[in-house]
Formats: sequence, C-alpha cells, structure tokens
Amino acid sequence: MLKENLKQVEENICSACKRAGRSRDEVTLIAVSKTKPVEMLKEVYDQGIRVFGENKVQEMMDKQEVLPSDIQWHMIGHLQRNKVKYLIGKTALIHSVDSLRLAEEINRLSEKNDVVTKILVEVNIASEETKFGTSREDAVKLVEHISRLSNLRVEGLMTIAPYVENAEDNRQYFKEIRKLSVDIKQKNIDNVSMSTLSMGMTGDYMVAIEEGATMVRVGTGIFGARDYSI
Ligand SMILES: *Cc1c(COP(=O)(O)O)cnc(C)c1O
Repeated sequence: MLKENLKQVEENICSACKRAGRSRDEVTLIAVSKTKPVEMLKEVYDQGIRVFGENKVQEMMDKQEVLPSDIQWHMIGHLQRNKVKYLIGKTALIHSVDSLRLAEEINRLSEKNDVVTKILVEVNIASEETKFGTSREDAVKLVEHISRLSNLRVEGLMTIAPYVENAEDNRQYFKEIRKLSVDIKQKNIDNVSMSTLSMGMTGDYMVAIEEGATMVRVGTGIFGARDYSI
C-alpha cells in the first residue's frame, strides 16, 4: 500500500512541476511520519525516501535511534524551548521557529555544541487564531533579528495553510507567502538565504508546488490517515 501511495504522490509532484515549468529536483518531498510506527517508516525508506518530518521531539528521537543514520529528520511541529536541547545536532531543519525567544534558545544551545542549526521561520499566513507562526507583518523583523544570531541560519519560510475542501482556496496564501519570501530575499540580509519555501500538505501540495514550494510535507497521502486514539 505504501509503495502505491508513494508512487501516486511522486506522480502528482511531477505533474505539478511540469504544469509550473519547474524541474522535479527543485522540490523535496518530506514524508510526514508522525504517529506512524517505525516499520512503516522503514518501508518508505526502502522505497528511497530519506527525508522524514516529525512534530514531537521525543518521537523523533525514538525513531532516529532505530532507523538508518542517512535519514534527514525535519522538525515540523511547534517547539517548546525546554525541548530544544534534545534536537541540537540531530535535525536537518527546524521548520517551526516563530519567536525570537525560541530562536535565541536554539542559538544558545547550537553555540554551546559548536554547530550551526538551519531553521525556517513559520508564518501564519492566513492569520488563523488556532495556528502558531509569526504574523506576516512581523515576519521581516523576526528574520532580521534572527539573522544576527551567530549559530542559526535562516533558510526560508514555512507555512501551514488553512484546512480547506478545495485546494484552490489556498492558492492565494501560497502566492502571498512566496511574495513575502521574495521581498525578504531582496533585502540581502546576512545569514539569510530564503531558498526554501516549505508549504503544502496532502490536501494542497500540488497547488503549493505550482506556487513555488521547494518542500512539501505529505503525511496522509503516503502513510494513510492518522489514528490519535492509540
Ligand atoms: C501533520 C503535518 C503535516 C502532514 O499533514 P497531512 O495532511 O497528513 O499531509 C504537514 N505539516 C505539518 C506541520 C504537520 O503537522
């Protein structure tokens, strides 16, 4: 089943790239494996996937311990400052930095461990009350502040678009965050590359790719629905 799901997702990514006149290697597929058992991750790994996304620090650490070491682990969930210490040196990219306080803590521990941590700034592009992320208005300032921290590198922006029935309804938000990313890039801030745009989930990743996503985070489309009751 996972093999077929992956094949379908891969086909969808390819056709979205084609429609947008983009090359397939501009887009990284992140297999969002939260709540799923390591056996399923292994199955997906065996199909060639090397990038996994998790939203809980402990779960990521547990899975990392038993799975091959060439996997890149992305932290995509809301991060508490007291959990940062476990992550340092163990994550390829933290997608969910939405405050200076959190950035400072990641920087402090990165400095202590002599590593540079790559991060994305999470933007609440639709200003939803239920979502984390900095507001669009505050995003530039936050990026500027973070850029002064020695052991952090801002690679771009991340957003979680609203839950919608029709993916087209999110196109405007993807356009807006893409524009925000271009605006920030044009400021040529030291330590800030803005080469990454993490947007698009199972329901809307094709539209996100058409609007410039360089990373899509797909969970359900690969692993099936999640069961939170167990
Ligand atoms: C769970 C999650 C996803 C994947 O969601 P699906 O709809 O299952 O693809 C993507 N991004 C974040 C931040 C998530 O928490």
